[in-house]
Amino acid sequence: MSDHYVKVKVQLEQMKSSGEGVEKEEADIIEDEVLVASPPASVSPIPASGAPAAQRETPKTSVTCRNQSKSRSKLGKDEKNTCTKQDSVPALQGTIVASNANSGKPVNRKDNEQQMLQIKGTGKMLQGKTETNGNTVPIHAPEDIKVGPHNKEDANKVAKRRKPVTVDTFKAKTSLEALKLSIRQLKWKEFPVGRRSACDIYWHGVSFHDNDNIISGQVNKFPGMIEMLRKINLTRAVRTMQELFPEEYNFYPRSWILPEEYQLFSTQINLAKDIDLSQKPTFIIKPDGGSQGDGIYLIRDPGDLRVIAGSHTKQSVVQEYIHKPLLIDKLKFDIRLYVLVKSLEPLEIYIAKEGLSRFCTEPYQEPSQKNLSHVFMHLTNYSLNVQSGNFVHSDSLSSGSKRTFSSVLYRLASKGVDIKKVWSDIISLVIKTVIALVPELKVYYQADIPPGKPGPTCFQILGFDILLMKNLKPVLLEVNANPSMRIEHEQEVSPGVFEYVPSPVDEEVKVGVIRDTLRLMDPAQRKSLTSYPEHQQEEMLGSPVRGTGEEGRVLPSMCLKQVFPKYTKQFSYLRTVERITALFLRFLGVKGNMRLGPTGFRTFIRDGSAGICGGLLLPGPAPVQVPPPEGAGGVPAGGV
Ligand code: ADP
Repeated sequence: MSDHYVKVKVQLEQMKSSGEGVEKEEADIIEDEVLVASPPASVSPIPASGAPAAQRETPKTSVTCRNQSKSRSKLGKDEKNTCTKQDSVPALQGTIVASNANSGKPVNRKDNEQQMLQIKGTGKMLQGKTETNGNTVPIHAPEDIKVGPHNKEDANKVAKRRKPVTVDTFKAKTSLEALKLSIRQLKWKEFPVGRRSACDIYWHGVSFHDNDNIISGQVNKFPGMIEMLRKINLTRAVRTMQELFPEEYNFYPRSWILPEEYQLFSTQINLAKDIDLSQKPTFIIKPDGGSQGDGIYLIRDPGDLRVIAGSHTKQSVVQEYIHKPLLIDKLKFDIRLYVLVKSLEPLEIYIAKEGLSRFCTEPYQEPSQKNLSHVFMHLTNYSLNVQSGNFVHSDSLSSGSKRTFSSVLYRLASKGVDIKKVWSDIISLVIKTVIALVPELKVYYQADIPPGKPGPTCFQILGFDILLMKNLKPVLLEVNANPSMRIEHEQEVSPGVFEYVPSPVDEEVKVGVIRDTLRLMDPAQRKSLTSYPEHQQEEMLGSPVRGTGEEGRVLPSMCLKQVFPKYTKQFSYLRTVERITALFLRFLGVKGNMRLGPTGFRTFIRDGSAGICGGLLLPGPAPVQVPPPEGAGGVPAGGV
């Protein structure tokens, strides 16, 4: 057992004996090796924003006067269209940041390398390197890595000579505040109204096409991501994978697309009910382009839908309602996790170690005809629950209606839940979901930036909304192409008068995500870093020169953790559709009007069969379903 776990155990014992009082420590439970060992909590010398949020000047971004009943935005998914969602919590005192922040030192890889994470449904354990026959094989980190011309001092010298990285923030919209803080911390150069010559990075608030004249550098949006993540398209993409790998993709609730699949939905459900009369399923209907709970309702019978469906023609998804969610304090909650898709080719995915948990404001009861319309009981959206009289604006990160995810994990750990497994299952869900999206994203990409045509490269921060079932299995609710990066929240200062005030918990989580995304996208760093193993990359990124923020202070350690290609081996067999897409793009092109000549056809067959022979097109071994280990399969009746 690592030192960390001894410490956590001691902390948990202390917590049990004192009953509570875990606020300071709890945010670090998922530190460093996401899901694995981490030193105990630490308070950073600088918070993510560079100065304690509570101490910073609190700009009142704007004041709005309006009727409270109109406070729900009708606009896009999170910030899909015009970025109006208020995804925030009330002011908090003090801040917490990633552990090691005060040392700026990398995590000791050796401490972590023996710790592996189990992937649900495969019997495998996630680990940094490889595995054989489902058995885990601990891999030792190289002792003495001498790759490239670099050592830390060299990198510092190079960095000193370099011009600052330039960021065009003209189109950043509501991310602007967090972005500005990040750029300031990195001592990069912001171009708030754009620049005649090219910038290194372009930050768009909505879509890749916010500015169509970019021919170099990097843009923080992929073409087609918004389209891919609409509820219907996400459902289609996951369904394709469910057909190929049903066990692996059972984290997405059974869904039907309306109106086109109404008959199928109705027939399947009625048949199931006829076979088993005790079945009383509930379904949730979500409009395709909806967000913030807008237009969502629950039904118990397909017949109910017909009545409603007749009156509107909106495209929607009807989905099995997860009726046994994990509860905390008798309340349903969901998890917002930030995921960086750093590159599609090669596929690179990072997950933020800290996320947000958003709580309902009415105690949960399993759905019944009577409570179907109780939105404060069934829907976890902040924008809805903030309107309830029960919404708790708390100064603590671990209480109230919006908390850090780490505080929830800490709470679960204190109840004996195997949080490493929870994290491992979440990572697995994220990787599989991205794998489901990649094929079409590549087609969109090629349509916008054909090979040979000058264009930028892309990256994107996504917001994953995840629900934990009572048996701790994570379920994917949706993925937001433009998760709110606002670090202010709206507060009603007097009846009908609203102000934007800084929200330290949002600042803590979101500035870290943006800042570390920028650090990973640093063009010079990108080139040189790829020759380093991951733990050394972190060291380079956190090194005193590149990692030194404003006023010469060392930046916190990275809050983003690479999960792909780190876990490539375990997930490679799921990339079948992507390989077929590659062949499609290569031989037919996006427009499909390239005719294959005899030579092209020969190459197609050769490459295709090489892929098949090499196992590229084969689904790989059937996953082994492993029952969850004793004690990790549930929580006490009635929730935690
Ligand atoms: P929106 O984009 O409008 O927020 P979501 O898909 O996120 O739509 O759903 C809104 C809320 O409804 C979620 O935050 C969650 O609380 C609840 N929810 C969504 N899908 C399910 C489901 N299948 N089972 C249980 N609850 C769900």
